[in-house]
Amino acid sequence: MLTLHNEPALLLFSGGQDSATCLGWALNHFIRVETVGFAYGQRHAVELECRRSLRESAPGINTAWRTRLGGDTLLELDLFSQIGDTAMTSDMPIAVDDQGLPNTFVPGRNLLFLTAAAALAWKKGIRHIVIGVCEADSSGYPDCRDDAVKAMQVALNIGMNARFVIHAPLMRLDKADAWRLAEAEGGKAFVDLVRAQSHTCYLGERGQLHAWGYGCGECPACRLRAHGWEGYIAGETRA
Ligand code: ZN
Repeated sequence: MLTLHNEPALLLFSGGQDSATCLGWALNHFIRVETVGFAYGQRHAVELECRRSLRESAPGINTAWRTRLGGDTLLELDLFSQIGDTAMTSDMPIAVDDQGLPNTFVPGRNLLFLTAAAALAWKKGIRHIVIGVCEADSSGYPDCRDDAVKAMQVALNIGMNARFVIHAPLMRLDKADAWRLAEAEGGKAFVDLVRAQSHTCYLGERGQLHAWGYGCGECPACRLRAHGWEGYIAGETRA
């Protein structure tokens, strides 16, 4: 059974599939959910546009969500483009290095996002922070790992004299499980909303709506998303 905390939470909300799914989870677990996003020089502003439309549509899923969705903050963190190019922040071909790490990896990104989110949460008197990182089925980004998130929680609590709890509800889920979680939190209507309104594609492609959502269908993020969708649908057919 889900527990509804009688406290607010701050969700790191990018407009991607994972954070959109976490929005549903957070709205079922916290009395109020505020969102924070980051403009960090990402290649495509489409993610930021998706944040807006997801926030507009989510309250339509049920009345509880309508009353619980709080405000949004967009923070500028455009220092990454000054530090150096990655395929996430400039127009270069996507490639994978010999360690299996794609050049879409922006070093320190989630660490900085968590620090900025915690600073905002501290100001707002919020102690629960929700982030949609996932260790099980990510692109191998080291800052999505459980150890990194736990270490950040310790560092932030020491450094801000706080008692933050960082929740990462997708940490142990693969991408098929993430679709199942979306369904468990908000039913088919929410799955449909995440499918059509969240954005994952590294190339910012939103021309054609596939079964699994919009995207080029070729980049690593689209492949991961499409593969997860197939797993989710296959599980449904078996059930
Ligand atoms: Zn793509």
